[in-house]
Amino acid sequence: MAKQLNCGDVGFDCQAQFNADTEEEIMSQAAEHARSEHGMSESDLQAHEGAIRGAIKDV
Ligand SMILES: [Zn+2]
Repeated sequence: MAKQLNCGDVGFDCQAQFNADTEEEIMSQAAEHARSEHGMSESDLQAHEGAIRGAIKDV
């Protein structure tokens, strides 16, 4: 089953969507995006990791 994450579901006003086969791949795409598009630091990412993982859906 593939995984999908919508950036908007994490709480950003953002249309970005990530698709991958594994949760880890989604997390790496989302972390890269959050750093470059939302200016999140590594500690911000760690603080929100639970919320981000919780927003990942099976598709
Ligand atoms: Zn975003």
